[in-house]
Amino acid sequence: MVSFAQGIDALNQSMSELRDIDVSFEFFPPKSPKMEETLWKSVERLAPLKPAYMSVTYGANSGERDRTHDVVKRIHQQTGVAAVPHLTCVDASKEELRQIAKDYWDTGIRRIVALRGDLPNGVEKTEMYASDLVALLKDVADFDVSVAAYPEKHPEAPNAQFDLLNLRRKAEAGASEAITQFFFDTSVFLRFRDRAAAAGIDLDIVPGILPVTNYQTLIKFAGFTNVHVPGWLHRQFEGLDEDDHTTRNLLGANIAMEQVKVLAQEGVKHFHFYTLNRSELSYAICHMLGARG
Ligand SMILES: Cc1cc2nc3c(=O)[nH]c(=O)nc-3n(C[C@H](O)[C@H](O)[C@H](O)COP(=O)(O)OP(=O)(O)OC[C@H]3O[C@@H](n4cnc5c(N)ncnc54)[C@H](O)[C@@H]3O)c2cc1C
Repeated sequence: MVSFAQGIDALNQSMSELRDIDVSFEFFPPKSPKMEETLWKSVERLAPLKPAYMSVTYGANSGERDRTHDVVKRIHQQTGVAAVPHLTCVDASKEELRQIAKDYWDTGIRRIVALRGDLPNGVEKTEMYASDLVALLKDVADFDVSVAAYPEKHPEAPNAQFDLLNLRRKAEAGASEAITQFFFDTSVFLRFRDRAAAAGIDLDIVPGILPVTNYQTLIKFAGFTNVHVPGWLHRQFEGLDEDDHTTRNLLGANIAMEQVKVLAQEGVKHFHFYTLNRSELSYAICHMLGARG
């Protein structure tokens, strides 16, 4: 019988044998000079790891698309890392989207994360879904297109199968990669990857990893994104709201490291990190994965 300790040894040994792991990092546009400083420090710290790309979100309906453009262009020009804008279609006309895509192509951007975006309050239907945006982008130029995927189902989808068929439409429209919503039950991701393969979905399914540093924010976020927070995770952070950052960072890093170890063992070769503009945890996890530039 293999003991638990032997299992952990084998897992750690397998980590030291990992090769060709790709990572990518997601940032959001800063809203204040202090946040701006944090963002650029993080970009500078993570760029030497030579990620596949660094992506920058755009808050749908925020009307602040220019800030995403600015961060993307600066990453592109200053770091030598491929910069990838997120683009939402819920709040722009087709003509605007075509123009934005052309501008990106002309500045050397070759990948876009194509999203619908959340519907504004009171709106139930939209003219365009993400699959329509993928088709529009591919029509403008031969972009590599990433899309979103939801191992625990998108909150609006009536059921998991409906959502999976939507992912297939995004693949058929020309996407090459799907980045998942964050998750904590690793088996949920693995089952989702199997179901996508069984449905003939020809996409690289990249797990979105959220290293948790702020538990209360996580709970809020998990609530409206339909992400299950397991009891064991609640218990790990219980009572630490007032504790210093170190304890919480250590726990967050440990949880994410265990998650990526299992995923790497299951053949995952590309990890996407929701950095929340911080570099410490993502850097440590990448180092463990052997992604060192
Ligand atoms: C990796 C990642 C990055 C993200 N980045 C951003 C960002 O930068 N900015 C931002 O605002 N949001 C972002 N989001 C959130 C995303 O915009 C929301 O989850 C949004 O509600 C759905 O976007 P989508 O691209 O998945 O939409 P879609 O794939 O269009 O799906 C949206 C919903 O509509 C359903 N649907 C699809 N087609 C149809 C149809 N024809 N008829 C009826 N229903 C349909 C789907 O099943 C799903 O429930 C991100 C999410 C992820 C996972």
